[in-house]
Amino acid sequence: KEMDVELRAVSARMGRVKHKIMIASGKGGVGKSTVAVNLARVLQARGFRVGVLDADITGPSTAKLLGVERERLLAGPGGIEPVDSKGLKVISMAFALSDPSSAVVWRGPMKMAAIKQFLADVSWGDLDFLIIDLPPGTSDEPLSVVQLLPDLTGAVIVTTPQEVALLDSRKAVNMVKAMGVPLLGIVENMSGLRCPHCGEVIDIFKTGGGERAAEELAVPFLGAIPLDPEITPLGDEGVAFVDRDTAAKESFERVVDGILG
Ligand code: ADP
Repeated sequence: KEMDVELRAVSARMGRVKHKIMIASGKGGVGKSTVAVNLARVLQARGFRVGVLDADITGPSTAKLLGVERERLLAGPGGIEPVDSKGLKVISMAFALSDPSSAVVWRGPMKMAAIKQFLADVSWGDLDFLIIDLPPGTSDEPLSVVQLLPDLTGAVIVTTPQEVALLDSRKAVNMVKAMGVPLLGIVENMSGLRCPHCGEVIDIFKTGGGERAAEELAVPFLGAIPLDPEITPLGDEGVAFVDRDTAAKESFERVVDGILG
């Protein structure tokens, strides 16, 4: 009974969100959160109404990348108010922690409850896109998201040339397939180094693995994003690099074109 009420609350809120997209990866550090926030920003720049749900309950990082990690959750008339990051609606566990660097040590059911509350009790309003940043790997969170959102638009898998070789991204692809979620495609991040002097891309680790893996797994390849020395400092300042005219911006525009099909 209680479950029904909660699920009804989730579907009432989520019925007002047109597209729900999960961003997943086989392991951490491949740039999944970076990709998630920049996709959100590109979509926003194209005039869409966009929300970002940080479903990485124990290691939230999108709030910092969006420059809002010091914000706190507030109750509004229609529920929990999402935090505003220059027009993006953001919800993250980081807003509920007294110290953003403190660790959350929760088991699966607690994480599920938090995700459910973020979907059911937040006044997201009408959105064109909700970008859901998952924790790395095949943990409880993706399953919770999938159970709560039966009409997910699909998942984007972020990988790197090195990770492709280690097969972790294939695990993420297989997890998504096993859950019956449509695969929107694979993004190869940190694909070559963009030289800050001449703009040429230097192939450090063998690039192209993401594209080959996509082919093998019969998943669309959404594009490659080069290693760009400007990205990390911008992330640390909470500025998405698509906000500035960086070289990687173009790559992101192409990825969004691919997602929008
Ligand atoms: P994940 O979410 O997969 O753990 P993050 O998005 O937090 O990874 O990125 C990990 C680190 O790599 C961050 O410091 C980020 O700034 C950096 N990074 C991500 N993508 C790129 C890129 N294309 N070029 C340079 N640095 C990047």
